[in-house]
Amino acid sequence: MTLFEDCCKKNNFKSLQIVNTENPEILSPRQGWIEIVCGSMFSGKTEELIRRINRARIAKQTVEIFKPAVDTRYAEEDVVSHDERTIKSTPVDAAESILLFVNNDTNVVGIDEAQFFGEELTDVCTTLANRGIRVIVAGLDMDYLGQPFGPMPKLMAIAEYVTKVHAICMQCGNPAQFSHRTAIGDKLVMLGETESYQPLCRTCYNRTNSSKNRHS
Ligand code: ZN
Repeated sequence: MTLFEDCCKKNNFKSLQIVNTENPEILSPRQGWIEIVCGSMFSGKTEELIRRINRARIAKQTVEIFKPAVDTRYAEEDVVSHDERTIKSTPVDAAESILLFVNNDTNVVGIDEAQFFGEELTDVCTTLANRGIRVIVAGLDMDYLGQPFGPMPKLMAIAEYVTKVHAICMQCGNPAQFSHRTAIGDKLVMLGETESYQPLCRTCYNRTNSSKNRHS
């Protein structure tokens, strides 16, 4: 535990919030904002979301976590990252439903797999932040075609803090930002099939796709 967390615990800083991005940690009384954690498959987005949520809990914050009901890869109610560290979450059918679940005493809202929500997630996050809530959103920034994914580009534009995390390229070991799909088919997202994706850097992604196009 850091000195900072220890201090929060001792003083029961329940009404205070912590910014825990790449910026220095800042204490601020009941002011809301939006943080985005984005990147490719296997980049550690959910792990980073869990890390931030856990630190908020250490600071005695009231935390709620949501994910789209379509994400059925693992246990229904858990946000689960690839290294199996779990955290309880509420699956919701639509972004608007998040507003129904958030209480007045909620300090922090975490949203995982945000790319699967519709564009209305932007308004939902804005409403929450305006109410004084710290909103932490994790999601894929690009689909397997390398195109901005769902509400993510808009969210990144309106957020106070954006953190882009990287996987490791499976072909050359450089930082990877593309989620290359190895399975055949043109469905945008194939749920429950993380093994069908490979993180690749720009060079390897372009090379792999141009040789794939030559052979098809
Ligand atoms: Zn590479």
